[in-house]
Amino acid sequence: MRETSGDERPVLGAVEGGGTKFVCMLGTSPSDVLDEVTIPTTTPVETIGEVIAFFQRPRPGLRLTALGVATFGPIGLDRGQPTYGCVLKSTKENWTGARILAPLSRRLGVPLGWDTDVNGAVLGELRWGAARGLDSALYLTIGTGIGGGIAVNGEPLHGMMHPEVGHVPVPVLDGDPFPGICSFHGRCLEGVACGPALAVRAGRPVPEIPADDPLWDLEARYLAYGISAPLLVASPKRIILGGGVMHQQQLLPMIRRHLVEVLNGYIDLPELRERIDDYVVPSQLGQKAGLYGALVLAERALNQARP
Ligand code: ZN
Repeated sequence: MRETSGDERPVLGAVEGGGTKFVCMLGTSPSDVLDEVTIPTTTPVETIGEVIAFFQRPRPGLRLTALGVATFGPIGLDRGQPTYGCVLKSTKENWTGARILAPLSRRLGVPLGWDTDVNGAVLGELRWGAARGLDSALYLTIGTGIGGGIAVNGEPLHGMMHPEVGHVPVPVLDGDPFPGICSFHGRCLEGVACGPALAVRAGRPVPEIPADDPLWDLEARYLAYGISAPLLVASPKRIILGGGVMHQQQLLPMIRRHLVEVLNGYIDLPELRERIDDYVVPSQLGQKAGLYGALVLAERALNQARP
C-alpha cells in the first residue's frame, strides 16, 4: 500500500461481477460516485486485468483504501480453504476455479471484501434501499437465473458457503408437465421459474408474454413456494424482489397473495396479513443493488483491517 498523504481523499472501490459484465465504481456512497466503468465478461485473466487497470488509473487527490467484490456464484468464502476468493464449479465457460481475489490483492494492495452478488445486494438494500433501518432481509433476483442473498443481524449469511435460494425444490403444481431447465435439478425454483424457463413455456420472450396470460399466476405460485422456504428458515424482516422478470408489474401482487396462501396463517403476524405490501417489496436499488452492496463490503473490509 502507498504511504498515506494528508491531501488525498480516501475512497472505496466496488465491483459487481456478472456473467455478461463487470461493473466497477469508485466512491463512498450511491450519492458520491466518482468514477464508474462497465467491462464485458470474457476470460478471468482478461476481465480481472481490466478491473485492476480501472482501479490503478491515476486519479490525483484520491486514494483507494479498500475494495468490495460482489460476484456471481458459487464462490469460495471460507478463508481456511484454498478455494477462498475463487469461483467454484460454474456453468460459465472458463470461470470454474477462477481466482478473483488473489490478483486483486496482489496488484491493488488494499483490504478486500468478498461475497456473492445477491448477498451484496441484500447489504446494499439494507443500507440504502428497500430494507433501510432493518437488520435482516431476503433479496431474491428473478431473471436469467434465480439467486437469493440473506442478511441476519446485519451480516450476510454464510455457512459451508452461502445461501443458494434459487435451487430450493418446489412442488409440481396442477400436474405441470414442464420438466424444468436447471442442469442440476430440472425442476428446482430456478428450473421452473427463471426468465428462460418462462420463455420456453410461453414460446416467446418474457416481455412479450401478455399480462393476462395464466402463466403469470403459475409463475407467482412457484415463486411463493420458493420464497416460503428461506422465509421459514431465516425469518427475514423484509423480502425484496428484483431482476428482469419482476419488471412485469402484474407479478408482485400475485406473489404476495400466493405467499399468504402458501403459509396459510401459520406465521401469525401483520407482515403476512394486512402489511404484506410492506413486507414483500420491489428492489429500490434495481440493477445497482449488487454494486452498492460491494461498496458496503469494501467498507466492512476497511473496518476489519483497522487495528
Ligand atoms: Zn437447480
